[in-house]
Amino acid sequence: MVRSLVLVLGDQLSPALSALAEADKAQDAVVMAEVMGEAGSPKHHPKKIALIFAAMRHFAAELEAKGWRVLYSRLDDPGNSQSITGELLRRACETGAKAVRATTPGDWRLIAALDALPIPVTRLEDTRFLASAAGFARWAKGRKTLRMEFFYREMRRKYRILLDDDGKPEGGKWNYDAENRKPASSDLFRPTPPAFTPDAITVAVLDLVGHKFADHFGLLHPFTFAVTRADAEKAAEHFFTESLANFGPYQDAMLIGDDTLYHSLLSPYLNLGLLDPLALIRRAEAEYRAGRAPLSSAEGFIRQILGWREFVRGIWALQGPEYTKRNALGHHRPLPAAYWGGETKMTCLREAVRATRANAHAHHIQRLMVTGNFALLAGVAPGEVHAWYLSVYADAFEWVEAPNTIGMSQFADGGVVASKPYVSSGAYIDRMSDYCRHCSYDVRSRSGEAACPLNALYWHFLSRHRARFAANPRMGLIYAALDRINPDDRRAIFARANTYLEQIDTGADPV
Ligand SMILES: Cc1cc2nc3c(=O)[nH]c(=O)nc-3n(C[C@H](O)[C@H](O)[C@H](O)COP(=O)(O)OP(=O)(O)OC[C@H]3O[C@@H](n4cnc5c(N)ncnc54)[C@H](O)[C@@H]3O)c2cc1C
Ligand code: SF4
Repeated sequence: MVRSLVLVLGDQLSPALSALAEADKAQDAVVMAEVMGEAGSPKHHPKKIALIFAAMRHFAAELEAKGWRVLYSRLDDPGNSQSITGELLRRACETGAKAVRATTPGDWRLIAALDALPIPVTRLEDTRFLASAAGFARWAKGRKTLRMEFFYREMRRKYRILLDDDGKPEGGKWNYDAENRKPASSDLFRPTPPAFTPDAITVAVLDLVGHKFADHFGLLHPFTFAVTRADAEKAAEHFFTESLANFGPYQDAMLIGDDTLYHSLLSPYLNLGLLDPLALIRRAEAEYRAGRAPLSSAEGFIRQILGWREFVRGIWALQGPEYTKRNALGHHRPLPAAYWGGETKMTCLREAVRATRANAHAHHIQRLMVTGNFALLAGVAPGEVHAWYLSVYADAFEWVEAPNTIGMSQFADGGVVASKPYVSSGAYIDRMSDYCRHCSYDVRSRSGEAACPLNALYWHFLSRHRARFAANPRMGLIYAALDRINPDDRRAIFARANTYLEQIDTGADPV
């Protein structure tokens, strides 16, 4: 007889999980389940599914070794009901358990499903975050706008990170982003990211995923992710010793064929629960204090985790289940086929999608300023953009993906996350990458067939949303620049944009 079932989801693989901390090994049983309901809808990247299932199987073995009774449902187990709640009910029937204990999931659909179960469910706070949902709500209360920068400063004070003896920000500034805008060049030395050889457990998962999800977008092999805490910690160690020092300056850079640069690639491990965010933050600070990393790099890395990661999670919790349906700019165009690997002449888009397909990963500036920027300029329906990001990235879970996509990237929340839309012409991509030098479009032209599509779409976007953005003080200069373009040129630019959008709609020209 089991007293309670303890649910452990695929992104809750942390020994300190609140649901485990409040359970009793002698009386309770852990439920873990690989189910089609999660892996197949939306159709997630095969590498992401394999990463989660392999990490789950390793974590279940760890729990068993520590004396937990684990009721583990493999995807192809004959009795598997293929949904999380179905598996909880099945295990309750089998064991006689009368209650469920769960750490609150980071997905509103799953929260609603748990709350609707016909047996009592105790939902606990996810204490792995450094700001609680209630704490974030208190911080947000009464503020006209929610800006990451001010939240981040509070978090720095709360956890005493990068402060001097007087409690002031180390080096005199809170944020060193202005020093982090260097473009990369291909002759830079760049470390090779660590690759982990699949063990027997992971090989079995790869066979299963290769068989069951062959029609999903993305390459399953080579599979080199860490799937245990010990290996994820090795990946973190590699980042701190090899890449952190250059992380800051090259944070926004992009290079053809280089899918890593100096990024950490730690987001999947953090989001699955294999790494502890505060430990990474403290380690980055220690690298700076030991003189092994400049302040701009350590602060930049810490801001991403203590600032952005916690901020977007707070926004997700605050905004509720309707957030993913927001469409403030009224965009309705379908997502172009190029996002699923269809042909495109745009080198920037092709590179971002190639990396995504190969790795279930792309770095931030590719997500924001290439795929996100193009979708926003072209007026793609934010719900479609959200579904794409959620399915193709190994680190994508609703709590982190939705505010980044719906809010930061698509401005579909009307400015909750971002104070202005993240849009740019081709000039930004040309400055930060070597893409344009290898593109069949001309980044310096704004009109005509050979012109970089982002140039015409940029001015077209600004013009069609003038009523919303012209009064934004951060966009005054941009609108002044639009108004300075001579009328004939402006007509030619808009004609180029309209033709291009028609070509996307009819599929006449692969973007
Ligand atoms: C449209 C869009 C969608 C995104 N979707 C996701 C997503 O589904 N999951 C996800 O983890 N990140 C998402 N991001 C944020 C960011 O792109 C990734 O966290 C980052 O690229 C992960 O690679 P990395 O580990 O090498 O990051 P690094 O550049 O090394 O940064 C270090 C860590 O900071 C955290 N971080 C950095 N930026 C953000 C951010 N904006 N929001 C939250 N955490 C951040 C991540 O945990 C990351 O591992 C998205 C960004 C955009 C613009
Ligand atoms: S020219 Fe335009 S389309 Fe081509 S890579 Fe540069 S920004 Fe992208």
